[in-house]
Amino acid sequence: MERKLIVAATGNVHKLREFREILPEYEFAIAKDLGFSDEVEETGKTFEENALIKARAVANALHLPALADDSGLCVDALGGAPGIFSARYSFLLGSPAERKDRDAENRRCLLQGLQGKTDRRAHFCCAVALVFPNGLELTAEGKSFGRILEAEEGSGGFGYDPLFWSDELQKSFASAREEEKNAVSHRGRALQALKERLASLASP
Ligand code: IMP
Repeated sequence: MERKLIVAATGNVHKLREFREILPEYEFAIAKDLGFSDEVEETGKTFEENALIKARAVANALHLPALADDSGLCVDALGGAPGIFSARYSFLLGSPAERKDRDAENRRCLLQGLQGKTDRRAHFCCAVALVFPNGLELTAEGKSFGRILEAEEGSGGFGYDPLFWSDELQKSFASAREEEKNAVSHRGRALQALKERLASLASP
């Protein structure tokens, strides 16, 4: 059977790999490869609002179903920060824009912010939005709980993975195999919930 096409509103290879692994019944194209070059401003106040902004922009421009996610790390002792600002955390704290390895800078800032704090609880949150050209919008959210390590562990994954100890896996996300992480991750859960919503749409 021919797989239905969904356009991913992301250029992040890690996210794309997770989309493909969790929704193998769909074929994914990258918005940029189909000519979408707009810089979409994430002006939402929640993960869900930002995911919808990105998916709507792509679906409206390309007239194809578009999937976007917005995700981040919420740290209890930092009042939920960096949250929706996770990707730009170090930049917002004053780290020079020309610093190349933004993920490493973000992790450095996180460790600094938690220095001396005993409460290391945190969770990742992800909202996904699938927007169809006819205006139909589906959203779903997923969370994954754990704590922030004192030092990095593991070399896999991306972003804050080396500092995130997963309560469920009992290891850092960066030490987990991809399938292990997908089974408990915020993005894995959000996509799974979306998949169930899609299935209930398809069945009468
Ligand atoms: P977004 O691309 O606006 O959704 O930004 C998400 C940011 O949150 C990323 O740049 C990472 O810093 C962080 N993040 C989101 N999901 C993950 C994950 O699965 N592992 C590690 N960091 C993540």
